[in-house]
Order: sequence, then structure tokens, then C-alpha cells
Amino acid sequence: MTLTPEEKSILEASIRDIPDFPKPGIVFKDITTLLNNPHAYKTLMDHLTSRYKSYELDYIAGIDARGFIFGAALADRLGIGFVPVRKKGKLPYTTVSEKYALEYGVDEVEIHIDAFGDNGKCNGSPAKVLLIDDLIATGGTAKAAANLINKVGAECVEACFILELTFLHGRENIDAPVYSVLQVD
Ligand code: AMP
Repeated sequence: MTLTPEEKSILEASIRDIPDFPKPGIVFKDITTLLNNPHAYKTLMDHLTSRYKSYELDYIAGIDARGFIFGAALADRLGIGFVPVRKKGKLPYTTVSEKYALEYGVDEVEIHIDAFGDNGKCNGSPAKVLLIDDLIATGGTAKAAANLINKVGAECVEACFILELTFLHGRENIDAPVYSVLQVD
């Protein structure tokens, strides 16, 4: 399921580059201009729905915070559950956590231990989970999130990103197939 050239240009034109945010040298990919453009947002969600409707997914897991926006909308369209992967300290029930390295220091993401049902099983088999976020850079955040899904007994069947910074080779760090809608070389 690939984007038509017209869909690709609608989406590319809707994402804004903000140079030197949050610090000098970083070009921040701002997806708020995609979200407030109903034509672009619908184009994206139609594409994701047509790609994933045949995957027989049990859940979508979205990464804190922009992964929630796309993940929750897609879960609703596919008629399946949504699970938030959150930054440390936000989830109220028993959690499983995973640390990952940042440029300076470490960060940590968490998931509820029963997020995908008892032992992550659906009718006796590992629940099939799609992981989603807005952007993959080094892949550290998504790697930790995919590990969490597998740690609680479910299966991360694919990791999906709206944008991939291909020059950082983040996809090589993820122990699951990776799909990106748009690529920045
Ligand atoms: P990483 O763990 O290096 O793959 O970083 C991915 C996370 O950082 C995602 O949650 C992104 O939303 C965010 N991020 C990293 N780089 C950028 C960027 N250039 N523009 C927007 N978000 C970014």
C-alpha cells in the first residue's frame, strides 16, 4: 500500500520545518500543521487505515505524546484497542519499564503490565501490536517501546512512523519491521 505522488505532496507540504528547535542544529519536524489541516490529516489516516486493515491487529501502541494522536485515531478506525506507552511516572497501575540512552543521560518509558490483557495474550496467542510514533530519529525511543510490548508477552508486529530521518539509520535498532510514510534524506 503506497502513497500516490499527490498524497505524498499533500503530506510533505503540511509538515513544517522549525530550524534550531529545541536547540541549535536540530530541524524540528512540526506536525501540528498537518493536524490542523483536515485534508492532510484525512489523507494520512486513510492511508494508514488501508495499509493496516489487513494486518489483523489486536492493539495499537502509541508513543508519548505525538504517537497518541495518530495511534488513537487509527485504533478507532480499525475497531481495536489503543495502549499508551508513557514517559516514566505517568501511569497509575503496575508498570513495566525500559530505559534508553539520550544524547546526554537516560530516559525511561513505561507500559501497564496488563495493557494487552493477561500476559499479553489474545485467545492464547501473543496479541499482535502495531507501534506508532510521529518520527523516528535514532530509534532509541521506539526500540525501548517495542521491547516493552514484547516484555509483557505481546508481539510488536510492525513499527510505523509518519516521518523517518533515514540518515540516522534508526530503523536498524528496532527488532521489528519498520514502515515510514515519509522519509527525510
Ligand atoms: P529517537 O528516539 O532518537 O528516534 O527520537 C524519536 C522521538 O523524538 C520521537 O518521539 C520524536 O517525536 C522526537 N524527535 C526526534 N527528533 C525530532 C525532530 N527532528 N523533529 C521532531 N521530533 C523529533
